[in-house]
Order: sequence, then C-alpha cells, then structure tokens
Amino acid sequence: MALSYEMKKLIEAMAQEVIKVYDVQIPITDIDEVVRSMGGFVEEDSAIDGFSDGKIRRSGLDSFIIEVSPYQSEERRNFTIAHELGHLFLHMGFQTNEQRWKKQTEVSYYRNGNSELEYQSNEFAAAFLMPRNEYKKVMDEHTDGSLVNTAEIARHFHVSVSAAANRGKWLGYLKW
Ligand SMILES: [Zn+2]
Repeated sequence: MALSYEMKKLIEAMAQEVIKVYDVQIPITDIDEVVRSMGGFVEEDSAIDGFSDGKIRRSGLDSFIIEVSPYQSEERRNFTIAHELGHLFLHMGFQTNEQRWKKQTEVSYYRNGNSELEYQSNEFAAAFLMPRNEYKKVMDEHTDGSLVNTAEIARHFHVSVSAAANRGKWLGYLKW
C-alpha cells in the first residue's frame, strides 16, 4: 500500500507548517527539546519493546507525552518521535482540530502496524526530519555526480541510512 500523491503533498505541507510555526531548526539535533517547545514531553519506557518503539497520548489541555523504548539507536529514536508527532498533528488534532483534540483522552497511538495512519505518520516523520529543500541541498553536497553517499545524508539529518535512502527515493532523487 502506498499513499496517494495528494496525501503525500498534504502531509509535506503540514510538516512544513509545523517546522515554521515552532521555528524548528533543520537538521534537528535535540528532538526532545523540539517536543518540549510544542508542550510535550518525551519519556523512556522500557516496557515498550518489540511490539512498538513508541507511543503518544494527550496528557492535558495542551500537552502530550511521547513514550519511547530505550532499546533503539538514537537515529531510530529520532524517527520514532517524529512519527509520533505525525500522529499528533495529523490524527489527534493537536493545534489543528480542537474538537478532535478534546476527544483524545483514552487513546494512544503507536509506531507499529501497516495501517494507512502508520504510513501517513512515517511520511510526516520523513518530511519533518528531512524537508525536501534541505534534502536536495545536502544530497548535492554528498554526490560525485553519479553516486550519492546516503550514509553522509543520514549522518547530517541524524536518521538511519535506510530512512535517508527511502526519503531520497520518495522525493524522486534516488533510484529504487
Ligand atoms: Zn504510529
């Protein structure tokens, strides 16, 4: 299953808007601080393992908690948290849909499964951590004209090599 072009465009626009509104500096070097600037909090929870790398829930009027498994690399942890932010803005209505946000008292969103919502949150995470224009710029700095060094791109954005490679493919910059 893949997201439609229109859906990807909408998600990219949302990620761009969030970056702008919260004045997020790219590349993100401290995503916990970014979360705090939004009114949220990141907690380590060793009870989360295997099943999911993270989850998010509303914790107050304008606050939320993201719980993450400590058993993941920093790169994967960054993507997990960005993924949960995708649920926050796309699905929970945080700062985007007050009615929906008010209803988010019992539900937690996870990072697992293959539902449409999970794909949407992954798309948000990629667009949030590696915005299109920045990606192009960094990619151009790490190519010899034919080969692109995805490990260097990954290092720049503090994500895994597979996340960096996937982003390049979806943007149409790298071959599958
Ligand atoms: Zn999820």
